[in-house]
Amino acid sequence: MSELRQQCLWEHITARPAQTAALASAVKADVCVIGGGITGLCAAIHLLEQGQRVVLLDASEIGTGGSGRNVGLVNAGTWIAPDEVEQTLGSAVGSRLNKVLGEAPAEVFAMINRHNIDCQAHNQGNLHMAHNASGAADLQSRCEQWQRRGADVELLTGAECVDYCGTDRVEAALLDRRAGTINPMAYTRGLGAAVQRLGGQIFQHSPVQTLEKQGDGWLVKTAKGEVSAAKVVISTGAYTEGDWSNLKQQFFRGYYYQIASKPLHGAAADAVLKHGQGSWDTRLVLSSIRRDDEGRLLLGSMGRVDNKPSWFVRSWADRIQGHYFPKLGKIEWEMHWTGCIDFTPDHLMRLFEPAPGVVSVTGYNGRGNTTGTVVGRALAEFLLKGDAEQLPLPFCQSQPVSAPGLRTGLYETGFSLYHAGQCLRVVL
Ligand SMILES: Cc1cc2nc3c(=O)[nH]c(=O)nc-3n(C[C@H](O)[C@H](O)[C@H](O)COP(=O)(O)OP(=O)(O)OC[C@H]3O[C@@H](n4cnc5c(N)ncnc54)[C@H](O)[C@@H]3O)c2cc1C
Repeated sequence: MSELRQQCLWEHITARPAQTAALASAVKADVCVIGGGITGLCAAIHLLEQGQRVVLLDASEIGTGGSGRNVGLVNAGTWIAPDEVEQTLGSAVGSRLNKVLGEAPAEVFAMINRHNIDCQAHNQGNLHMAHNASGAADLQSRCEQWQRRGADVELLTGAECVDYCGTDRVEAALLDRRAGTINPMAYTRGLGAAVQRLGGQIFQHSPVQTLEKQGDGWLVKTAKGEVSAAKVVISTGAYTEGDWSNLKQQFFRGYYYQIASKPLHGAAADAVLKHGQGSWDTRLVLSSIRRDDEGRLLLGSMGRVDNKPSWFVRSWADRIQGHYFPKLGKIEWEMHWTGCIDFTPDHLMRLFEPAPGVVSVTGYNGRGNTTGTVVGRALAEFLLKGDAEQLPLPFCQSQPVSAPGLRTGLYETGFSLYHAGQCLRVVL
C-alpha cells in the first residue's frame, strides 16, 4: 500500500508563482489590502482597475489560507436555505443577500474568463445529495425555495439521480446549474497574477503587526516595513494572525479535511459524478465528493485530521467510498490535508467598517469561493464610492462570539465521534 501523505493536492498540482519579497521598506498606496486570499485579491483587482495604487500584504503566501486548500465548490447562496436567510435578516436585506450570492458563481466564472485563469473551471452545476428520506425532503424544500426566486435548479430522482451521482445510495439530488467547480489554489494564484499584471504590489511573508491612524489615512506596520495608505481592506478570514484587529473575536474556528485518491481510470471510475459536478451530502456532518481533471476522487468532511493517524483517515475514506461507490473496489489514497473555517453562530457573514476608511469581513462559514469574490468587489466599490446600499449586507457592529475556543473544541469532538461512528458502521 502506498504512503498516504499530509499534503494539499491543489498546492501539489498548481504551478508556483514567482516569489515576491517581504516588505522591508516604507511604501505608499491608496489602499492597503491585508490578506492574500480570494477576498483580498478580488478587492485589489477591482481597485486597480479603477486606477487605485494597491499594496497587498500576506502573512504567509498567496493561497495559504482557505482560498488555496478548499474543496473547490463554486456554490450559489449560503449554507442556509434562502427562506431562512430572509427570516433571519428580514426580507429586504435577506433577499438582497440571496440575489447577490445566487448570482455569485457567474461572477467567479466571469473573473476566471476575464483574467484567463487556468484552474480546472467547470460550470456544469453541483449536486447536493440526499443521504436519506429526510435529506430528500430538505432538498425538495430548498429546490422550491430557489425555483420561486427564478434559479436554475432541479431535483433529480430515480434513474436520472443515479446517472448523475453514480450511486444508488442517494435518494434525490438537487442539481444547481448555476454552480460548478475549480482548482481553488489555481484560481487564487491566478487572481494574484492578475493583481501583479494590473500593477499591484504584493508582499508575502509580511504579517501585519499594527494598524494605526496617521493623519487622514492609515499606517500598516509589519516587522520590517510599513505601508501608508488612505484606506485599508482587512481580508484575513479564518487565518487572521495577531491582535491588531478585533476580527478574531467575531468568529470561531472550525476545520475541514479532504483526502484525494490516486487518479482513477476505467468504467467504474467514469460512472462517478460522470457529468462533472461536485457534490456534498445532507448528513449532519456532511461528506463532500468530487473528481479532479486527472480523475482523482476527493472526499472531505468537517473536522481536522492533521492531528490523527493516517489509518483513521484512510479508514474513514474507505468507508465513505465503499458506501457510495462500492464498484470502485479498493482504491489508493494519496494525500490528505486540513483547513480552517471562520464560523459564526447564525452561519451568516459579517461586514464591518471599524473606522472610516477601514473595512473588514468574516464569517463565510465555509463558502468563500463565491462569497469572497463578490465581497472583495463590493468592499472595493464601497471604498471608491462610499455607497453602503450596494453592499451584499449592511455593516454591523462588533459581535464577539462567546467562548470561541470552547465552541471549536465541542464541534471538533462531535465531528471526531461522528467519523469514528462512520468507521465503526454505527452511523451511516
Ligand atoms: C478545507 C476547506 C474547504 C472549503 N471548501 C469550500 C468550498 O468548496 N467552496 C467554498 O466556496 N468555500 C469553501 N471553503 C471556504 C473558503 O475556502 C474560504 O471561505 C475562503 O477561501 C476565504 O477567503 P479569504 O480571502 O477571506 O481568506 P483566506 O483565503 O483564508 O486568506 C486569508 C489570508 O490572510 C493572511 N493573513 C492572516 N493574518 C494576516 C496578517 N496579520 N497580515 C497579513 N496577512 C494575514 C493569511 O496568510 C491568508 O493568506 C472551504 C474552506 C476550507 C478551509
